[in-house]
Amino acid sequence: MKKKILVTGGAGFLGSHLCEKLLEKGNEVICLDNYFTGQKANIVHLINNPYFEVVRHDITMPYFIEVDEIYNLACPASPVHYQINPIKTMKTSVMGAINMLGLAKRIKAKVLQASTSEVYGDPEVHPQKESYHGNVNPIGDRACYDEGKRAAETLFTSYQRQNNVSIKILRIFNTYGPRMMPNDGRVVSNFIIQALNNQPITIYGNGTQTRSFSYVDDIVDAMIRMMETEDNLSGPINIGNPEEFRIIDLANTVLKKTESNSEIIFKPLPSDDPMQRKPDITLARELLNWQPTVSLDSGLDRTIHYFRNL
Ligand code: NAD
Ligand code: UDP
Repeated sequence: MKKKILVTGGAGFLGSHLCEKLLEKGNEVICLDNYFTGQKANIVHLINNPYFEVVRHDITMPYFIEVDEIYNLACPASPVHYQINPIKTMKTSVMGAINMLGLAKRIKAKVLQASTSEVYGDPEVHPQKESYHGNVNPIGDRACYDEGKRAAETLFTSYQRQNNVSIKILRIFNTYGPRMMPNDGRVVSNFIIQALNNQPITIYGNGTQTRSFSYVDDIVDAMIRMMETEDNLSGPINIGNPEEFRIIDLANTVLKKTESNSEIIFKPLPSDDPMQRKPDITLARELLNWQPTVSLDSGLDRTIHYFRNL
């Protein structure tokens, strides 16, 4: 059955892939974005689809529409961008959540929150399970994002308990792929662009910190699976790749794949930069029948191909 679906942050990296997939599945999609870190170029190929609509709107302001489902993705995700205006980042997470939950309550729609592994902060438990409550510095440079996303989870679960809103929370780990903005600032796009331009590869710290990288198609698949679950499954559920990589090893892999002459240079580690990150995805496996299917090797090839042709 054709559903009417609102995607906030739909012109961003993850949002544009999600809009595309939801349309492919025969749904009607309304993409809402204020273009802070998203761009029309990400969705221009969808514009001629009569079931696709674009709205310029900022989710810190209420928005009204009748839909069956809401995917709430609006929020800058790269540390470089979310730290430009930390107050706005927090407003987007918190007021955006309130506005989308209020809308969901009023129109009886299901609402999914794109939460993040950042709710675990610099984790003292490894790998991270959903039951771990995290280690976030509430006054650090990353707090506007981490605490904003934590508060959003609180709002989602409170609207569920208090108002019976049908909610879904996914804690998404580092995701990469085509349509990351060249100036996004996250590690995969930075390294690929630097390597392709034979510019120095910038490693922050000594490169022994770890992350777990997922390819965008796998994450979009998980979001849709989560939305399709029964009302009594609300999460939070970790979504990510349980393979863990050191940043220095990522740099060397990108250098090799791009046959680049770039040198590696070391820069100071930003404050509160987590030292390790790796999801326990038992819940996703059991409850969503989901696990990543695209290896880092193949995902990097596709992403390098995209940036080469930009
Ligand atoms: P992105 O920056 O590419 O996309 C975010 C989109 O939201 C952009 O199009 C931006 O213009 C829009 N936006 C920002 N503030 C807004 C506002 N106030 N009103 C309306 N639109 C607004 O980032 P992304 O990587 O696509 O991330 C999408 C979502 O997924 C974010 O909520 C992010 O926190 C979450 N997430 C992403 C990752 C990842 O690795 N990419 C990991 C965990 C969680
Ligand atoms: N990083 C790096 N060089 C870069 C960009 C990032 O060494 O040019 C490091 C960063 O310090 C962090 C890791 O790579 O340890 C992942 O950074 P990203 O911004 O992609 O995501 P997050 O820190 O939010 O997980």
